[in-house]
Amino acid sequence: MNLYVHFPFCRSKCAYCALHSSARHTAETRQAYVERIVGDIDRLFGATHRGETISTLYFGGGTPALCDLQPVLGRLAPHLSPTAEFTVELNPLDVTPRLLRQLRSGGANRLSMGVQSLDDSVLESMGRVHTAAQAKAAWHMIREEGFGNSGIDLICGWPRVRSGTTSDAWRRTLDEAAKLRPDHCSVYALILEPGTRLAADVKSGRITLPSDDEALAELAEAERALASAGLERYEISSFARPGMECRHNLATWRGEDYIGIGDGACSREGNAVSRVIFRLRLIKEGFSPAQAANDFPELAPRVREWCATLDRFSAEGLLSSSGGFYRLTPRGTEVCDTILAELV
Ligand code: SF4
Repeated sequence: MNLYVHFPFCRSKCAYCALHSSARHTAETRQAYVERIVGDIDRLFGATHRGETISTLYFGGGTPALCDLQPVLGRLAPHLSPTAEFTVELNPLDVTPRLLRQLRSGGANRLSMGVQSLDDSVLESMGRVHTAAQAKAAWHMIREEGFGNSGIDLICGWPRVRSGTTSDAWRRTLDEAAKLRPDHCSVYALILEPGTRLAADVKSGRITLPSDDEALAELAEAERALASAGLERYEISSFARPGMECRHNLATWRGEDYIGIGDGACSREGNAVSRVIFRLRLIKEGFSPAQAANDFPELAPRVREWCATLDRFSAEGLLSSSGGFYRLTPRGTEVCDTILAELV
C-alpha cells in the first residue's frame, strides 16, 4: 500500500502556495486533527485494508512537524513493511535533533526539506519564514543524525531582477544546493496559482513574472548543475542519485493506487493501467481521445469531457494538437501531472 498523510498547518502562508494548508490554527485544533488522523488509520487497517502493509508512506503538508506526530507514528508503525520507504516533509525551522530522533524511531527513513531558494532576498519575497543559513544548518543536522536518503525542494522561475537568461540568485541557489550534496532534489517551475498573494501582486502589476523561456532556462540550468552534482533527472521535476529516487512518487506516477488520509488528501484506487498509458502517450507519441476511448471502453463516455479539457490546456499553451493527437509543449511538460489528473 502507498499511503499519504496530510497535515494542513503552516507557520504562515507562502506567497505562491495554493496547497491545502492554513496558518490559522491553535494547539487545540492541531491536537484534534491528530486524533482524527489516528481514528482514520484505525478504521483503514481495522476494516477495508486489514492485514495490508505499507510499502511507501509520505507525511506531507502543510508542515507535518507542527503537529505532535508521536500518536500517528505509533499507530502506523505496526503496519510498515520492513522495506518501507517513509518520507517526512520538513520545514528548516522544524529541524531539531529531538524531532529527527523521534522520526527515526517512528520508522521514517527519508526526509524532504522545503528550501525553495538559498538566497535570502528571494526567500523573503516568497514569504518563507526561514533564511538560507537556517536551511543549511538544518540540512547539516539531518546528515549528522544519520538520514542518508534525503533531499530538498527548490522553486525556479521566481520573479526577480535578472541578468542574462538565468537569474544570479538562481545560479547561487544551485551552487549552494550542490554543496549540500542532497540525494534528491525536486525543482518546481513556479506556477501562478489563483487566490495566492503572488497572483494578486502580478495582477496589480507590482510583480512581473519571468517569461516561459526564462523559467525554462532556469530549469535547464538546474538540470546541468544537478547533473554535475551526481543527480539525474528521473521525472519532470525530480532529480536523484541513482537508486535514491522517491519510491512513493514513482508509485503514484506509474499509476499505482494510493490512499490519502487527512483534509484535502485524495486517494486513487483503480484506473492504474489507463493512467500509466495516458501518461506515456502524453509524453511520447501524443494522446488521442478517440484512441483512448477505443482502448478503454469503460472510459469512452468521457471523450467529450477530455476534448474540452485538452482544448483548454491547448489554449493555455500547455499542449499542441494535430490530427486528433495532443502533445505536451515544453511548458506543458512541467505540469504534466496536473493535466493527467484531469483526464483520469
Ligand atoms: S510551508 Fe509549504 S505548504 Fe506551507 S504555505 Fe509554504 S509552501 Fe505552502
